[in-house]
Amino acid sequence: MLEVQSVSKSFDGFRAVDGVSFAVARGAITGLIGPNGAGKTTTFNLIAGTLAPDAGSIRVDGRAIEHEPAHRRIAAGLARTFQIPKPFAAMTVLENVLAAAQDQPGERLLPALFARGAVRAQERRNIERARDIIAFLELSRVEREPARVLSGGQRKLLELARVLMAGPKLILLDEPAAGVNPALLETIMARIEEINARGITFLIIEHNMDLVARLCGEVVVMAEGRVLGRGRPAEMARDPRVVEAYLGG
Ligand code: ADP
Repeated sequence: MLEVQSVSKSFDGFRAVDGVSFAVARGAITGLIGPNGAGKTTTFNLIAGTLAPDAGSIRVDGRAIEHEPAHRRIAAGLARTFQIPKPFAAMTVLENVLAAAQDQPGERLLPALFARGAVRAQERRNIERARDIIAFLELSRVEREPARVLSGGQRKLLELARVLMAGPKLILLDEPAAGVNPALLETIMARIEEINARGITFLIIEHNMDLVARLCGEVVVMAEGRVLGRGRPAEMARDPRVVEAYLGG
């Protein structure tokens, strides 16, 4: 589903990502791991389109996307979350999820002028879908609260809700376990499993090895801008090169 091929990105001559290649199979949950500074976030930004690669290609379903703007990648079914979620703090949880809908009636002026009934029906469907997603992520109790009151873990759930609202086929998760208490972490892991069971593919940056071992069929290990290896989490955890990269990092 996702093919990253010989992708490089430098910042002022420093090669943060240096000829990285890996693939993510459709329906898989793949981990992207490695010590701090390995180039994981930069790789995410290259896939999501917030950064442009200096070289290499990125394909989703066989289609090269490396020159497409981020919003077009979202429309093509690619969605990402951030390590530190930044919801619209003053907007409610429901409004935050609604804002992530791909078919926002307000954006289409002509239908708004000529087919108000159809637009309202679409709005109602969006609200219904947003509320279903919010319930699925156990946020119904805070649906009408401004996002600023949410805990760190609830913000992660809200991010996931926003991502689901966009209707993706491939989700990039940036450290879903970071700053999340154990009870909510269990909820987040269970929901990722359920979303995956519906056929959605995941690529996950994560330092929490419990999450990686439970969810990821395969991990891609990065260090110093390169791919060190890939394999099952347990295999990679005892790979001497991987152990050395972590100790050295
Ligand atoms: P990771 O997510 O694996 O911790 P990053 O992709 O964030 O690694 O960073 C890889 C390297 O690239 C680091 O050395 C970091 O300092 C550098 N880097 C990342 N983004 C920038 C940037 N915008 N400008 C300069 N250097 C950057």
